[in-house]
Amino acid sequence: MSWLDDTDDDEPEFDEADVRVRPNPKANRPRTKRRPAHGDAVVARVLGVDRGRYTVLVDEDGANEHEALAVRARELRKTPIVTGDRARVVGDASGAEGTLARIVGIQERTSLLRRSADDTDQVERVVVANADQMLVVVAAADPEPRERLVDRYLVAALDAGIRPLLVVTKTDLADPADFLSHFDGLGLEVFTSARGEMPLERIGAALVGHSTVFVGHSGVGKSTLVNALVPGADRATGHVNVVTGRGRHTSSSTVSLRYASAAGRGWVIDTPGVRSFGLGHIDPANILRAFTDLAEIAEECPRGCTHLPDAPDCALVEAVAEGRLGDTGAARLDSLQRLLTTFAG
Ligand code: GDP
Ligand code: ZN
Repeated sequence: MSWLDDTDDDEPEFDEADVRVRPNPKANRPRTKRRPAHGDAVVARVLGVDRGRYTVLVDEDGANEHEALAVRARELRKTPIVTGDRARVVGDASGAEGTLARIVGIQERTSLLRRSADDTDQVERVVVANADQMLVVVAAADPEPRERLVDRYLVAALDAGIRPLLVVTKTDLADPADFLSHFDGLGLEVFTSARGEMPLERIGAALVGHSTVFVGHSGVGKSTLVNALVPGADRATGHVNVVTGRGRHTSSSTVSLRYASAAGRGWVIDTPGVRSFGLGHIDPANILRAFTDLAEIAEECPRGCTHLPDAPDCALVEAVAEGRLGDTGAARLDSLQRLLTTFAG
């Protein structure tokens, strides 16, 4: 998939180079020539990045689970390593004070969210790896919800193969019904939240077993929600800096926080600095694919069909015009078309 970056193509090269410079921890043991590179590496979850230092979780879910600090091997300096990555780590990953492990590679990613400064920006930055859900947080008022902003999040999620969820906060200030009607055709799971009445159990249940990236414009109440879902979230993000002695995490860094309740565990990935995702690299086919019912019908479309209202011989437009998909189908095509024009320029 075009989404997955070129990191993995480069890895054998990195590994070889790295073998050359790697200090041999067992110097008196004969070295086997065909020994796999970094056979001694452990896989650790990247929780956060702060000025070139990675906080990684070693032995996740194991008896010896602990955090450690790591830097990336020199050979990987051009490889983006982000929150959610599974890093291959060598060296002292004990997490003891003053120790630094070394990241020598990353595992293939199941998903990748990137952002670019704007839709035409060629320079994309990787934001989060391996998330399988995106929780879009929007306020019913203060700030006023914007449908198009939510559309942009949805497009970024669907393109990356990530399931979107929607939380509307501050429903004590305004009724979100009108706003929500825009999303009827999407089949989105929607949660509403009010001051003092956050649906923590319901949202929590959706987090169990998943890696969920939280996105939202500043002021919508995302931090309030994260802190309520993950007690001590503040403390956890500060932990990195206890080790590095640099005080609190800056608000622009993305962190992974563990969600845990009687229902189970999951990961909350908070993205304080990311307000929107550039959509300069979206593949329309990925958006259509998320609408499985419509995608099936669209197989009858002419090659290169845009599926927009003016598309000649579009099987979807025709099916809706003939009433074959009912009101629901019409609403879904409407939503699909809106998303398809979100990044069409
Ligand atoms: P963030 O920028 O998205 O992280 O937003 P914050 O969590 O910092 O919240 C912004 C402001 O909205 C704070 O003053 C919160 O107390 C307030 N807030 C959060 N949730 C609600 C809510 O459901 N209702 C109301 N009325 N205010 C809320
Ligand atoms: Zn079509």
